[in-house]
Amino acid sequence: MTRRMVHAACPHDCPDTCAIRVTVEDGVALKVQGDPDHPPTDGVLCTKVARYIERVYHPERLLRPLRRVGPKGSGRFEPVG
Ligand code: SF4
Repeated sequence: MTRRMVHAACPHDCPDTCAIRVTVEDGVALKVQGDPDHPPTDGVLCTKVARYIERVYHPERLLRPLRRVGPKGSGRFEPVG
């Protein structure tokens, strides 16, 4: 088991350009937090980014492009080759 801290920057096009600390264990991100040493971030991330872990590992996250194959609203999609 290898746990490490990765220093990153928020990828959103936002003027704050927050600095992020990501705790990673065996290639899996466990926690994201704002970098307290970066003055504009001051240890706090906005609600969009603070929940990245939930979004990235959500079981319904799309991992490849899909196209709709049924009528709009039917919820039928197939992978794009
Ligand atoms: S964490 Fe939120 S406030 Fe900070 S740069 Fe990203 S989008 Fe902007």
